[in-house]
This record gives sequence, structure tokens and C-alpha cells, in this order.
Amino acid sequence: MSDVYNSFRNLWIWKYLGERVAWYYKVSANDAPAKYLIAKRTPVPLESSSDYDVEEGLKIYERYTEEFLRIKRDIENGEDIRRLETPRYSLLDMAKDLVWKILRRCVFCRWRCKVDRVEGKRLGTCMLDTVSRVSSYFHHLGEELIFRGTHGSGTIFFTSCNMRCLFCQNSDISRDRFNGIPVTPRQLAQMAYILRLEGVHNINWVGGEPTPHIHNIVTAIWHLAYEGFRLKPSDDDLDHILKVKHDYFIFPMDKRFADYKGEFNVPMLFNTNTFLSRESLIILRPLIDIWLPDFKYGPGKCSIRLSRTPWYWETVTENLKLLYEWGENIVIRHLIMPNHVKCCSIPIIDWISRNTPEIPVNLMDQYRPEHEADPHSPIFNKDAYDIARRPYKEELLEVWRYAEEKKLIFKEITFEKKGFMPP
Ligand code: SF4
Repeated sequence: MSDVYNSFRNLWIWKYLGERVAWYYKVSANDAPAKYLIAKRTPVPLESSSDYDVEEGLKIYERYTEEFLRIKRDIENGEDIRRLETPRYSLLDMAKDLVWKILRRCVFCRWRCKVDRVEGKRLGTCMLDTVSRVSSYFHHLGEELIFRGTHGSGTIFFTSCNMRCLFCQNSDISRDRFNGIPVTPRQLAQMAYILRLEGVHNINWVGGEPTPHIHNIVTAIWHLAYEGFRLKPSDDDLDHILKVKHDYFIFPMDKRFADYKGEFNVPMLFNTNTFLSRESLIILRPLIDIWLPDFKYGPGKCSIRLSRTPWYWETVTENLKLLYEWGENIVIRHLIMPNHVKCCSIPIIDWISRNTPEIPVNLMDQYRPEHEADPHSPIFNKDAYDIARRPYKEELLEVWRYAEEKKLIFKEITFEKKGFMPP
């Protein structure tokens, strides 16, 4: 593989976390194909026009995901992807067809609104029909080192959200669904195309929340797989999508950043509040190379008061368990909040140490009271009374010390921005 990635390969953090996120690392460095390139080569004996309902379709999809996993293992053992034919109808084709079927009775997330988002007469909690809007996309240089690397994480910010966090730091996009520009799935793929040719290490689907946009994300991934280097935007597309490209530097484009045996290659990162449904997880399993799920609240009622979200604990823990059982590459994020150490941080650490001990965890200290939690704001909400300040140092230390006691894998990823480097 080209030398353009040597600086990424030489990052110190791989020595500590490389094994935990080995698949992501290989795809990012173009030593392995993104999952979507394998899903494109996984045959399913159906046609686009095949008549099946969502439940039946998901069973078939899961069955052929097993075949996908077999092919992936072969590739990891040295099989050359160029020897594999592209079938008439693939697992990736089926993913695209399934998400648009689900949209007619949307259950992308745990709200399970069952509204017809294609018809658009009634909207669910996310308030979205079929159209996705992007508020910005850019090389994110503030994500964890394994994601920002040397050239940044290729972050694509969608508007709207399926949670209502009083303290949301992105409320301008999560609460304003008309922020940004509407995009077609192909334009989304073109954003990813530009970012990767400029050297990003992953495509970071985020928001707001990416889950309500799964239909357009999966379709964009389909374009990346089938059109690849031919996705070069027309002048009209470029005029449109450059309106929301928020980069301060010019990154020269180089095809070698994206090249895996002649195919356009980039790992898919799903940066989520983890409130998605099992159906969504099943569909995304053969498409997402690394997961970045939030784990915000403990098992009490904090999620209802502070995020207006019921069923939070059971949904997040079930989802994390499933991803862990599947052996996915995962990094968990937990934002330490003031006055929520005992009720949230400690039970979360306990749960992770009992259930998913090998997953790296970022125990983040950057909470600031914003949006409805800002005591100086006219929209301050009294329900946010206990989170209207930054966490005290003692609270942060209590959480980090407990995580250490419980032997969580967290230090490298949590402290690297503070200059921490293990001896
Ligand atoms: S994505 Fe979630 S909130 Fe939005 S309509 Fe679907 S189930 Fe409801």
C-alpha cells in the first residue's frame, strides 16, 4: 500500500488499541476492503422486484449476512477480492431495498413510530420524512486519535435527532431540522468521496443523530460501492455540496488515499446515541466497519428528565451486547455529567466491566452546560437544575479512578489529548 498513510500507521496509539479495532485500522490503511465492498460481492438469491415483507426480508438478510461473514473471513485469510464476482443481486442491494421498505413504517429507532415517512403525512419523533439535510461536513480534527489520525475524521453532520437532550451541544442542528442543505444519497456519497480523496481515515456518520437517516446512508454506501472512483461530482453537484464543506485548510486530493486493489475504499463509522432498533443494527452489521456508540445514562429516570427518552438503559445495553457478541469494532463514549456520577457513570462502568470489558471507552470530561441547561440562557429549563455547571474535578477523578479499579480500557483514549502517553 502507498506510503501516503505512513504517518497514520506510525501513530503511537495502535500499540495499545490496534488489536481492539483491528478491522477498522486495516480498512483505514487500505490493507483490507471496507465491509461494503464485501457486501457487494455477497450473493442473495432474490431480485430487486422480489416481494417480501420487512420481517421476512430481515430473516433472509440475516441468513446471507452469515455468508458475508464467511467471505470476510476468507479475505482476512488472504483471498483476493478481485477474484470474487459481483452477483446479480447482492447483500448490499438488499440492504438498500430493505431500508426503503422500512421507511414506509419507520422503526429505525426505539421509538418505533411506524409512520410512513415516504408519504410524509404523519411524522415521528425525529420529525423527518425521506429527505436528509447535511448541516456541514469536514475533516474533524477533534475526534479521538484513532479517528482523527493525521488527516482528520470525515465527519458528515445530519440535522434532527430522535432524542431531546436539554444540554445538547449541537442543538442548532439537532433541533432545527431545516438547517443545512438537502442532499440526495448520491451527493452524500460524493461528500464521502471528496473527503476520502483528501485523506480522511473514515466516514463519520453523525448528527444530530444518523439513525433517522439510515435509508440515505445505506443508499450512499451503495453508490460508493458501485460507482467508487466514478463518483466525481458534476459542477452542479459540486456547487451544491461545497456550500456546507467547513474546512479551514485545503487538502490536496490523492486517489491513493482511497485505493484498495483498484476499488474506492473507506471505513464506515457510525457515531450514534445508540437508541437505534435491532432492525437497524441487523441491516448495518455488514456495512459499518466501526461503531462509536454513546452511553449517557444509568438505569434510573435521568434519561427521561434530561433527554425526554424512555427505555434508554434497556435499549442501549441490548444494542451494545449485540454488537459485542457480533465481535464488531467498537469504542464507547461516556460524557461525565455533574451530579450524575452515582446514578449514571458508576452503573455504566459496572455494566461495561461485566458485559463488554474488552471495548475501549472514552470517559469524557468536556461537559459544558449548554442549550436548555445553560443557567444564563433565556431558554434555561428547570429540569436541568443539576447539570447547570461543569463537572467538578473530584467528580471526574471519582469516575476515572473507578474505571481504573474496574480495569476498563480507557486511559489511552481518554487522556491522549492531554498529552498522556503510556510509558
Ligand atoms: S427514525 Fe425513529 S423517531 Fe424517526 S420516525 Fe423512525 S422510529 Fe420514529
